Amino acid sequence: MSLERGKEFAGGEGSSSGYLSPSPTDLHDQQQQQAATPSRYESQKRRDWNTFGQYLKNQRPPVPLSQCNYSHVLEFLRYLDQFGKTKVHLQGCMFYGQPEPPAPCTCPLRQAWGSLDALIGRLRAAYEENGGAPETNPFASGAIRVYLREVRECQAKARGIPYKKKKKKPTTAQSSMGGGGGGGGPGNSDHDSSTSSIMHFS
Ligand SMILES: [Zn+2]
Repeated sequence: MSLERGKEFAGGEGSSSGYLSPSPTDLHDQQQQQAATPSRYESQKRRDWNTFGQYLKNQRPPVPLSQCNYSHVLEFLRYLDQFGKTKVHLQGCMFYGQPEPPAPCTCPLRQAWGSLDALIGRLRAAYEENGGAPETNPFASGAIRVYLREVRECQAKARGIPYKKKKKKPTTAQSSMGGGGGGGGPGNSDHDSSTSSIMHFS
């Protein structure tokens, strides 16, 4: 089992699910991406969009984009978890709620909430840029917001790391703030301010 986890989308191009590029980044990457240029965001967005399109094509039967709805998006997000790099402790784990467990455990790796949140923001923009109507944008669905909120709360509890909303920082050199935030803030507040309705936690 642990083998499966370690190899990250190494499934090979040919298999139905192994094509995925590492587009949804984990928190580490995200902190680096705070300094990302717009073009980097754009290319990430394009990659994410291609990945999602590929995912739909690989469904049995394939799902045309016009028929894609929020449930496909939710399945996509769950599917991505297998490529995650963030340890999320199960309730029975003795390290549940500990930000820095002293030893390894067998709990699964997941996509960090911040990664998924940023991903959805990019895909949501890409959908409309690729001709999708805002009214039918599956990434804007309330169900997605609910799911993301659940993931955030679950991960905050399991990891003992509250997700804090970060103000978008002016471009002062803050890149060395690694440990300070406890890994919580995904720093993606600029991806789409209109998704911030999921941020109203206490
Ligand atoms: Zn654990």
